[in-house]
Amino acid sequence: MPEGPEIRREADRISKKIVGKEVHSVNLIYPPIAEFQDILQQSQIESIATRGKAMLIRFDCGLSMYSHNQLYGRWTINRLSTVMKWNRTLRVEFLTNKFAVRLWSATDVEIIPTSKEEHHPFIAKLGPDILDDSCTPSLIFNRLRSKKFCNRKASSLMLDQSFIAGIGNYLRSEILHQSGVHPNAKPRSLSDSKIQSWAEVTKSLSELSYVTGGFTVSEKVALDGKQRGEPKRAYRHSAFCRNELQCHYCDRKIVRIKVANRRLDFCPKCQDLNN
Ligand SMILES: [Zn+2]
Repeated sequence: MPEGPEIRREADRISKKIVGKEVHSVNLIYPPIAEFQDILQQSQIESIATRGKAMLIRFDCGLSMYSHNQLYGRWTINRLSTVMKWNRTLRVEFLTNKFAVRLWSATDVEIIPTSKEEHHPFIAKLGPDILDDSCTPSLIFNRLRSKKFCNRKASSLMLDQSFIAGIGNYLRSEILHQSGVHPNAKPRSLSDSKIQSWAEVTKSLSELSYVTGGFTVSEKVALDGKQRGEPKRAYRHSAFCRNELQCHYCDRKIVRIKVANRRLDFCPKCQDLNN
């Protein structure tokens, strides 16, 4: 499932095509939102925001289109002349003179008042958005030290969208590996310097992934891995999908475990539970 950085990049790409542009057709094909067809057709798209893994397309009539792709929704951007040949169900379509921006298959699509976005049941439960400027390492530090979260295992905390919104499975493995935190460690048993490193890496890796399109290592590290013949899914990360490969920081191999049925890759030496 795409994580916060991927959703934000998608929102950026869609914004370039339809924000401030002449959108001559807005087609709300999905029945639960079809009643808003006329009002949105007559409105301009003002901005596109993301909250965690949700996207909010804001119109100047005071309404927003909330969408969450879950596992199956897909956005596409094509030239108007391109014919889509697949079996997905079209939900929403924005057409300009040159481009077609379309949402397929998603079922979590609603039209809500822009002023009430923060009251939406999904958004109301979210913690600070990892890519928002207000989500600083010191804010993350304080949340890790807070009563609410300090007794939770790192592996479950990292995926809890009420802790920080926008972190998913690959960022979890990457953040814990690069900050040296064992998946079973609890913040309350870690030193201030370890918590500080965890908070800083949480922010910096999410931003790096946003800027680079899913890379969580430096260009040099990725290039070295590529030259060794590693697949992209492995060379773009330090731990995730590098199980059975040697850790970048020590002589051990990365190990894969499953937590709540989701993959987590880590280094038993760099991420020592007692350290
Ligand atoms: Zn290691």
